[in-house]
Amino acid sequence: MIEIIQIPLLSDNYSYVIIDKNTKITGCIDPSVAKDIVEVLKNKGIDLDFVLNTHHHQDHVGGNQELKEIYNCKIIGSYSDQNRIPGIDIKLKEDEEFNIGESIFKIIDTPGHTIGHICFYFEDQNLLFCGDTIFSLGCGRLFEGSYEQMTESILKIRSLPDCTKIYCGHEYTESNAKFAEFLDSRDDLLKNKISNIKKDRLKSKPTVPTTLKEEKMLNPFMKFDNQEYLDSIKLKNISNVENFKTIRMMKDNF
Ligand SMILES: [Zn+2]
Repeated sequence: MIEIIQIPLLSDNYSYVIIDKNTKITGCIDPSVAKDIVEVLKNKGIDLDFVLNTHHHQDHVGGNQELKEIYNCKIIGSYSDQNRIPGIDIKLKEDEEFNIGESIFKIIDTPGHTIGHICFYFEDQNLLFCGDTIFSLGCGRLFEGSYEQMTESILKIRSLPDCTKIYCGHEYTESNAKFAEFLDSRDDLLKNKISNIKKDRLKSKPTVPTTLKEEKMLNPFMKFDNQEYLDSIKLKNISNVENFKTIRMMKDNF
């Protein structure tokens, strides 16, 4: 089992220190900067064995080199993005498994936000670190990938068990909620969720992690093939990709 320490960094990033409880082997997912990570590790009295990067954006890899210098840790990233992940040592492909001590994760390729974007899936523990693919009530912008790729990536995530806990790369929930509410202001579950989000954010509490179950019910980017939802937001059902594209473009201009 892993212990997860969620670390807010920069204006709205989340990095995660993950510690395998039995072996104390430790990883850090998407270190935007090194300083705060080092502090957390110091307080815990542990060293860092691995850095795991979901994608190459600076706010996810900014701490790589410094952490490597301090801890001599190994850096894990996507095989296909090896030229863009600073200091990469271990290049993993889709479905490849890797151990953090006794905890095993598997790579899920999720191109869209970037071409080489990957998620780290701890299947036995129902945990997904999804970087900038899915956010609570939202999804990542398509900087590099196609709408086809992102739709496919979201379908992959959606096929995981409902109880999967989703650890995203950013605290964007409150602004995502505004768009979700704009699309469908009559959904009581959404209204309830939004009021909880507002309460949490007033106290600066994170709204992440979320669960796949909740996202399947409330996230507009997971409902592009749900006829009832499409009817309620008055969107014609053309195809998964076209429906997703329309919703994504509306959000880009929201
Ligand atoms: Zn990004």
